[in-house]
Amino acid sequence: MLNLAIIGGGPAGLAAGLYATRGGLKDVVMFEQGMPGGQITSSSEMENYPGVATVLDGMSFMAPWQEQCFRFGLKHEMAFVQRVSQNSDKTFTIHLDDGKTQIAKAVIVCTGSEPKRAGFKGEDEFFGRGVSTCATCDGFFYKNKEVAVLGGGDTAIEEAQYLANICSKVYLIHRREGFRAAPITLEKARKNEKIEFLLNAVVDEVYGDKSGVNGVIVKFKDGSTRDLKVPGIFTFVGLNVRNSVIKDEAGKFICDVNEAGQIVVNLKMQTSVPGLFAAGDIRIDAPKQVVSAAADGAVAALSVISYIEANH
Ligand code: FAD
Ligand code: NAP
Repeated sequence: MLNLAIIGGGPAGLAAGLYATRGGLKDVVMFEQGMPGGQITSSSEMENYPGVATVLDGMSFMAPWQEQCFRFGLKHEMAFVQRVSQNSDKTFTIHLDDGKTQIAKAVIVCTGSEPKRAGFKGEDEFFGRGVSTCATCDGFFYKNKEVAVLGGGDTAIEEAQYLANICSKVYLIHRREGFRAAPITLEKARKNEKIEFLLNAVVDEVYGDKSGVNGVIVKFKDGSTRDLKVPGIFTFVGLNVRNSVIKDEAGKFICDVNEAGQIVVNLKMQTSVPGLFAAGDIRIDAPKQVVSAAADGAVAALSVISYIEANH
């Protein structure tokens, strides 16, 4: 039996793994469907982690995290967790997508969040063929070409600047005049001559053919439209939490969540179910920052150590 199962290997999961194993817990497995690192690995620059003054891309920033954890005995199982259920003896069963199961005394859910779809015509049809949610992954395909970016949050503004370094021009489409992005980020983008702001505007349609996107129809609040002849559009319209692991077979949540499906936790990262903890972007009121996700992971791991000492 595992002492601890960590689900998700982003900043929260990796920090939980480090604190659990370095805190002396044996048999700790982090279930991560892909390479550890989480969503920050798709970021082009990471410059707000305290103590790391060098600006790094997300992949380089996260690389040492797993190395550090594995040194203390954390094991990574590359598997997708379908769901978690509680057993009558208060242990948990981890159901993997290949049908296998593992039993653990405690679980920390660190499954984070994933990009939302914007909902315009052609988005699904051309996803991966001109519609993207990752500038570091796909930006290079548009070297010296014009592209569009949709959204007005930190991700859209930061990634628009990253794309402006590669592409000949970036159209930044945002549905209103105010921005969620931090003022300092916005200010830099406004000074970038390669970025043209199209405000009070939405994407009406993305069109193309078998080879991919050929253009984007932008619709303004005043009813006018503009046809951007671009081969690519990057959408950064927010995130949905990944909470499927805490649903039972009937689709009912096994612990308390809020109306957005974020897991309700207390300051120890305990959920409403004893032995089940949550950390990072998946929890209520998450600031959605690497530093806070990592801190949550550390708090959750320390709580798990106390929980196991008291209950098993
Ligand atoms: P995530 O990073 O989302 O990690 C969750 C992990 O769980 C993923 O690796 C996923 O594969 C795995 N997973 C999910 N479900 C399952 C399952 N069922 N089975 C197995 N594995 C599963 N924050 C900053 O502080 N500074 C920044 O500059 C910054 N820039 C950003 C730029 C971009 C483009 C994006 C998208 C985000 C940025 N953020 C930034 C936010 C930051 O990345 C997140 O707040 C942080 O990664 C959250 O960490 P997490 O561990 O909670 O979740
Ligand atoms: P976000 O802050 O939720 O912003 C989403 C943006 O998309 C908003 O401007 C929103 O417009 C717009 N939008 C939403 N749905 C839309 C639709 N259907 N069509 C058109 N536009 C739509 O998302 P995010 O930028 O991905 O950021 C997520 C979190 O990560 C935030 O907490 C952010 O601060 C954090 N993050 C931090 C950093 C950093 O610290 N450097 C970097 C990236 C992300 P409205 O504003 O009108 O609602």
